Amino acid sequence: MDHRVEHIVVVGGGTAGWITACVLAARHPDRSDKGVRISLIESPDIPTIGVGEGTWPTIRQTLSRIGIREADFLQTCRASFKQGSRFNKWVTGEADDSYVHPFELPVSQNGSALLQAWKSLAPDKPFAEAVCVQSAPELEGIAPRQRAMPDYAGAMNYAYHLDAGKLVDLLRDHALSALGVQRIEDNVVEVIGAPDGDIEAVRCDRTGPVTGDLFIDCTGRRSLLLGTHYDVAFIDRSDVLFNNRAIVTHVPVGPESRIVSETVSTAHEAGWIWDIGLTNRRGVGCVYASDYIDDDRAGHLLRTYLGDVEHTPLRQISFQSGHREHFWHRNCVAVGLAAGFLEPLEASAIVLLELSAEMIAETLPASRQAMDIEARNFNRIFLYRWARIIDFLKLHYVLSQRPEPYWQANRDPKTIPQRLQDYLEVWKTRPPSAYDFDQAREVFPVASYLFVAYGMGMMPTTHPTLDPRVQDTLKTEMQKMLRKRRSLAAGLPTNRALLGGCAVASTVSL
Ligand SMILES: Cc1cc2nc3c(=O)[nH]c(=O)nc-3n(C[C@H](O)[C@H](O)[C@H](O)COP(=O)(O)OP(=O)(O)OC[C@H]3O[C@@H](n4cnc5c(N)ncnc54)[C@H](O)[C@@H]3O)c2cc1C
Repeated sequence: MDHRVEHIVVVGGGTAGWITACVLAARHPDRSDKGVRISLIESPDIPTIGVGEGTWPTIRQTLSRIGIREADFLQTCRASFKQGSRFNKWVTGEADDSYVHPFELPVSQNGSALLQAWKSLAPDKPFAEAVCVQSAPELEGIAPRQRAMPDYAGAMNYAYHLDAGKLVDLLRDHALSALGVQRIEDNVVEVIGAPDGDIEAVRCDRTGPVTGDLFIDCTGRRSLLLGTHYDVAFIDRSDVLFNNRAIVTHVPVGPESRIVSETVSTAHEAGWIWDIGLTNRRGVGCVYASDYIDDDRAGHLLRTYLGDVEHTPLRQISFQSGHREHFWHRNCVAVGLAAGFLEPLEASAIVLLELSAEMIAETLPASRQAMDIEARNFNRIFLYRWARIIDFLKLHYVLSQRPEPYWQANRDPKTIPQRLQDYLEVWKTRPPSAYDFDQAREVFPVASYLFVAYGMGMMPTTHPTLDPRVQDTLKTEMQKMLRKRRSLAAGLPTNRALLGGCAVASTVSL
């Protein structure tokens, strides 16, 4: 008789563990006699990583599906609206060097048509501002939604900036009170294998063995089940993505201060600094490669960036860009840092763990027999996703013209994945196209490549002449976009007006 999947054990209570437990529990409610039970084991002693403040618009669907109200989320997580990323000093390093990668799509997905429309109709504007409603000076600090709109709906596409610790607290409360997840607060001290090679149980310090049919490894960088127990290799990608350290701090802000809608990423001689505005503070972090500058120099760069503002003590985090050789092995699948991590330039970690949780929930095998087939599919899709994210992150470095040794080394072809090298070659003469990307649900679709590539000055030398009818249509679309932008600027509140003075005391009601 085949073994039914009845008990899922999530090991680890960080963002990955609680999001996965919530997504699974919301999709597979416990129907007592034949439902799926979900338990989560979290250590009382081992802290979560405590960073991860930038998200992608997928987070709205995730929170909505697991049944959390948007107002509760905003209030608890001191969250603000993220509408894209701004990259300062990435191209030349000069003071006026700045471009935006917004969340809204451009008026067309056709790279050639967009390029021609931009060059002929709005050549004096930056690319994103010319072709995308969201990116314009008149929308700076403006919220993407009205107070009266339904939960998670927006006049413009958006994600959030949030307090990672508060998000874990909110997810935990919700999982326990509304979704029937069982929490075991204990340390896992041993992984117990079954004779066939599956995991039979994990032994907890005080609780003893916890048996399960499927184990989700969310133990963070320890990767206790997939990495340590199964010894699935870690593929180090620091040959492509050099950064391996971050120094982080928080800057308190007043209740009247302006809240920026983008993650601001400012390049420096050997990395970059993130600046993320929440309702009660800014999270600021200096990301760098220790092969190029030492910790003291990175601390100095961060302090210089901060100026004389008050901030919390600096905290250092080490990391390594890379991922496991595969993610689902026998009856164990790793999600979050246990599966891998790529430097946080485009906030790709939480979106990847949401997509993992979503796919596990959607394809959850009813029995052990089906599990290996689902595992193969999962591994194929996610290996592709990790590789494409590496390409996309590297693109930001390859297109830079900055002169420092770190930036020069980043442009060395030996450090550029072959697929990206191939596309950079063809993009010399034609724009990136949707045909360059294999999956229907790309983490970074062609629009993202266009925003970064044209934002950084990449310019194909030739492109097909535009059919006059296409040109007319695009002209009309751009005019419509400008009208929409004007009405959004006039009709939407500022981030601060919508989110209130301080979310703790909140009067936020959407
Ligand atoms: C500098 C930096 C900046 C980042 N910025 C972003 C960002 O802007 N956006 C984004 O999407 N992501 C970002 N990330 C990544 C993000 O922080 C993580 O992907 C996310 O927090 C998920 O972490 P996790 O839950 O996998 O691991 P963790 O938070 O480390 O959680 C691991 C859990 O496992 C538990 N555990 C470990 N061992 C045991 C044991 N033996 N027994 C029981 N429990 C155990 C721990 O107690 C903890 O609860 C950033 C990461 C870094 C390093």
